[in-house]
Amino acid sequence: MAELKVKRGDITKLQVDAIVNAANSSLLGGGGVDGAIHRAAGPDLVEACRRLHGCKTGDAKATPGFRLPARWVFHAVGPVWNGGGLGEPEKLASCYRRCLELAREHGVRTMAFPAISTGIYRYPKELAADIAVRVCRELAEACGVERVEFCCFGEEMAEVYERVLGGI
Ligand code: ADP
Repeated sequence: MAELKVKRGDITKLQVDAIVNAANSSLLGGGGVDGAIHRAAGPDLVEACRRLHGCKTGDAKATPGFRLPARWVFHAVGPVWNGGGLGEPEKLASCYRRCLELAREHGVRTMAFPAISTGIYRYPKELAADIAVRVCRELAEACGVERVEFCCFGEEMAEVYERVLGGI
């Protein structure tokens, strides 16, 4: 079984093979964790993203990490929450699955996810964490990933993950 754990703080500081970005479909930068990752990686990141020509909701694309400690950034585009009846759960699950597939392609053994879609995109935290944990439990090991860190910016999100991981 891959190890799944909660991390508190800024994902840009984590020493893992890959960090995941909660990007928008342009991949050209935005607010929240996206802004923090672009600031920390430096201007080469936006240039690399430009060459990817965007990304669909539910998909993810890889770039190098440039000045980040992480070797790779997987840019995933989560769904905007609009009540849950517009395919949001499937699209969010697809983000996690695509990032694990990218991990397999790039030989990534340790990776960190932010809570995709739970910020500006308003996905309910508990529902999002359920999906993140379910997909990672199902697929991380099969993709060669030994450790997944759920990086939480704020105590509330961290407590949600602790609860979901503990199965309480
Ligand atoms: P989205 O548009 O997908 O909702 P956001 O960046 O607004 O993306 O938020 C996604 C999650 O990332 C939120 O839970 C937010 O608190 C968290 N977040 C914001 N900045 C950071 C950071 N530097 N490191 C880790 N998580 C972060």
